Order: sequence, then C-alpha cells, then structure tokens
Amino acid sequence: PADPAELPTAQLPAVPGAGPRPAELDAREVSAWFGTHKVLDRVSLTMPAGRVTALIGPSGCGKSTFLRTLNRMHEMVPGAALAGQVLFDGEDVYAPQRRITEARRDIGMVFQKPNPFPAMSIYDNVLAGLKLTGTRAPRSTKDALVEECLTRAGLWTEVRDRLRSPGGALSGGQQQRLCIARSLAVRPRVLLMDEPCSALDPTSTRRVEETIQSLADQVTIVIVTHNMQQAARVSDRCAFFLAEAGRPGGIVEHGPTDAMFHSPQDSRTEDYVNGRF
Ligand code: ADP
Ligand code: MG
Repeated sequence: PADPAELPTAQLPAVPGAGPRPAELDAREVSAWFGTHKVLDRVSLTMPAGRVTALIGPSGCGKSTFLRTLNRMHEMVPGAALAGQVLFDGEDVYAPQRRITEARRDIGMVFQKPNPFPAMSIYDNVLAGLKLTGTRAPRSTKDALVEECLTRAGLWTEVRDRLRSPGGALSGGQQQRLCIARSLAVRPRVLLMDEPCSALDPTSTRRVEETIQSLADQVTIVIVTHNMQQAARVSDRCAFFLAEAGRPGGIVEHGPTDAMFHSPQDSRTEDYVNGRF
C-alpha cells in the first residue's frame, strides 16, 4: 500500500512546464501467478520511450496482468507471484531499494471505467494524486499545473469555465480525459492504459485516441485494446498475447504495428488481426 510518508519531498513533481521525459520499459522473462495458477510465461517485451505500444489478444490471455506487473500493481493481489525483471530506463522496478510508490508515480495507470472522484471538483480531481504525495504547492503553481494537465489531456477548453463543477458531472469521455489529466499531474514517464475506451461511445473514443496520440512523444504509452482499428490508429508497436488451451499467456509476435497488421509472421496473429477469432 502506498505510504505517503515514504515519499521524499525533494522528488515531488512540481515545476509546471518541466520538459516531459518519456522512459523505456523493458520486461524480461516476466512470469506471473495467481496462487498456483500460472497466467504469464516468460514474457519479454521492450516498450520504447516516447512510443505507443498496444497489447492485443483475446480475453483472459494475461494482458491486464502483464500491465499490472509493469508498475507493481500485481503484487497487491493476494496470492500473486512474479518472476523476471521489469526495467525502467534500465533500472529494476522491483529492486529492493526502489520504493513501490516511486514506481506508481513514474508509471501512471488509466483504467477501463473512468474513475474520477465524482463529488470532487474537476480542479481537485486533477490534483488528487499530488495529495497522496503531500505536495504543498502554492495556489499559482497548482493553477498552472491544472491548466497544463487538462490541456495535455485535451480537456481544457471544455472545462476551463467550470473547474469547480464536480468531476461526476462530466460525460464519460470527459471523465476519462479527466483521469488522464489526474495521472499526468504527478509527471509520470510512462502511462499504462487498460482498455481506456471500452466504456466510451465512438465520439468520446476518438477524443481519447487524439489525446493518446498527442501525448505520445511526452510519455511512453502502453495500451491494452480489443479494438484492432484503434490499435492500428494509435500504436507504433503491437504485441499479440495468446493463452492456448490450458497454458499460461505469452506473446506470439510483436513488432511495428504496420508489420503486425500487413505482414504478420504467425498465422495465429494473422487470424486475430483479421477478426477470425
Ligand atoms: P486479459 O486482460 O488478457 O483479459 P487477465 O490478465 O485479466 O487477462 O487474466 C489472465 C488470467 O488470470 C485469466 O485466466 C484470469 O482468470 C486470471 N486472473 C486475473 N486476475 C485474477 C485474480 N485477481 N485472481 C485470480 N486469477 C486472476
Ligand atoms: Mg484485461
């Protein structure tokens, strides 16, 4: 569990306008279990800095689990176990001296169902992640940070006149962009997104996709999606996950998105990207 007291004040995100620095994530032979049930088997994948990597594959093949191993959320699940390494710009995310809260701050997460604090104002929602870190930024700094994050999330022009309205009053798509803004406030260098558009209508989905595309050079993005058109539109690279009957999930094939869609090397990839299973 995140212990705010654990966070060194010196490392708090603060300076609005500080240059974004996307980081590379490198998973090496990551295996994961729930109790005795092995759900991932030696998954290796490099997610390059400043690129969008899409994780695709049928339900239950371990995409969400893999995503949770990247920012140490997997270890929160009772009975969960893990083997292998995750490197964040070459640094082991699981190194004993590296705090779990650091991993969470450096590597943000956006979920399928938008989860702003519904009764909290839009303004306070953006800053909610900072509260956890005990930041006491002056009001002017907070204002600038809120504007910056809402702008980066593509929501500023829609909400600038009602920052004191509750987050729950926004549409689903706006709520999801608010959650993206909230993630950005702690200045993550990687953003993990687990089917961020699955609960949204097509128009809202487009807006979130535009946000993803505009963020891509500022923060490394790893996105799980069931929508092949979406993977094709937003990602630079794709990894196709599959769990074959009774076996743990693994990556069948990965590479540049274009190649995955137009010249897949494996017949299972070809079948999947063409909607044949
Ligand atoms: P995906 O995101 O690709 O649909 P998941 O990572 O959610 O796949 O699930 C992979 C496997 O792990 C599935 O067999 C699922 O039932 C199992 N699983 C997921 N979460 C848990 C959990 N909290 N406890 C036990 N088993 C789980
Ligand atoms: Mg999932």
